[in-house]
Amino acid sequence: MLTDLIDRNQRWSDARHAEDPDYFRRLAAQQAPEFFWIGCSDSRVPANVVAGLDPGEVFVHRNVANVVHSSDMNLLSALEFAVDALNVREIIVCGHYGCGGVKAATEDMPHGLADHWLEPVRRLARAYAVDLARSDSDEARRDTLAELNVVEGVRRVSETPILQRAWRRRAEIRVHGLIYGLKDGRLRDLDCSTGPGHFLKAAAR
Ligand SMILES: [Zn+2]
Repeated sequence: MLTDLIDRNQRWSDARHAEDPDYFRRLAAQQAPEFFWIGCSDSRVPANVVAGLDPGEVFVHRNVANVVHSSDMNLLSALEFAVDALNVREIIVCGHYGCGGVKAATEDMPHGLADHWLEPVRRLARAYAVDLARSDSDEARRDTLAELNVVEGVRRVSETPILQRAWRRRAEIRVHGLIYGLKDGRLRDLDCSTGPGHFLKAAAR
């Protein structure tokens, strides 16, 4: 219930204030997060909680199945602000195993607007159909697709004019792909990070 939520907020705010009387004044004055997080809207994968970060430490954008659409003005506006105004150093694209959005992208039944939203994931599933078919189970296949979706997200973020511009001016920003396990609460690095060299390599091609 909403009243429970307001009560919980009051208790949290009181506890924070008791712990550090200057806490809210400091946070209200400015935010200087080190991380920008692009994750899934799933209620079980809140960026601050699973990454153990306090308010003020991570700038967040979330959508169904953490899809990076190259024309998503919402994501691009947040990305540009994070890079150009907040000067974040680490950008994280985080997917998760057991993702309902990824599952929906593998199903034949209609899901309304989500089918448009999830089109890039569906396209990935088609592109990697042979590899995905080697999985032992539907669950394993979807989890591999969730990983591929993260790797694709890292690539797309890296190729935005926002990151290319930042790397051209030698900004030390890195983009990482992580995946979160709902079953064990662990974040895993998918080893697909990009950095300033990504621009240099792209330019050398
Ligand atoms: Zn999800």
